[in-house]
Amino acid sequence: MRTPLVAGNWKMYKTSGESASFVKEFLPLVSGVKGVEIVLAPPFPSLPLVASLTAGSNVGVASQNVHFAAEGAYTGEVSPAMVKEAGAGYAIIGHSERRLYFAETDDNVGRKVAAALAAGLVPILCVGETLDEREAGKTFDVAGRQLRAGLAGVDSPRAARVVVAYEPVWAIGTGRTATPAQAQEVHAFLRGILAELWGRGAAEAVRILYGGSVKSENIADLMAQADIDGALVGGASLKPASFAGIVKFK
Ligand code: PEP
Repeated sequence: MRTPLVAGNWKMYKTSGESASFVKEFLPLVSGVKGVEIVLAPPFPSLPLVASLTAGSNVGVASQNVHFAAEGAYTGEVSPAMVKEAGAGYAIIGHSERRLYFAETDDNVGRKVAAALAAGLVPILCVGETLDEREAGKTFDVAGRQLRAGLAGVDSPRAARVVVAYEPVWAIGTGRTATPAQAQEVHAFLRGILAELWGRGAAEAVRILYGGSVKSENIADLMAQADIDGALVGGASLKPASFAGIVKFK
């Protein structure tokens, strides 16, 4: 049985003060939620504060990125160990905005996933096709290639700790959600690749989240699909009540 995971990606929104106000309002709204892992991914500067304000609660913390090296002359970058020390338990890796705006390659994403695991973080590996790729019939090629490359450095004993997020780029921030059937089709395909890599048992333990304009109005239908194990949420995670409405999808 996979425990659902719902993660809020704040992207480059919220100062530390705004992050603290969010957490203070959000924690009481979700304190009674059981059987769902809840994660917030604030910008780096507010990560230690969000981690300390959520310590001892049912809310975990993720970074939105990590570098693949343990340390070094990489101006502007942050290592997995630094993120872990700041209080994160998870790291979002390979988000489409990083692939698009920061030239993140499949190879770099794979190195980051391996580095995050080595540092004791749970990587949330994002994969997904653009609208052009979907319309060209390349959805499975692209998502499959990104998944295999992202997991190239992961051996099977560590497999169950990895979280995968299927995020069709055309559904991110557009208000256009994949239908539950469209998402399920890709999730089942991705789980098939995991089974090929690590065996059916390990594949069945991996959470595959859906991301792309998830709201409290559509989460239940998505979660009803056999291979959808949670959500990675952008815009709708920025307001406490709206994110709490998604977390309480049951
Ligand atoms: C995201 O940024 O991962 C995302 C899914 O954004 P949104 O929910 O705004 O589409």
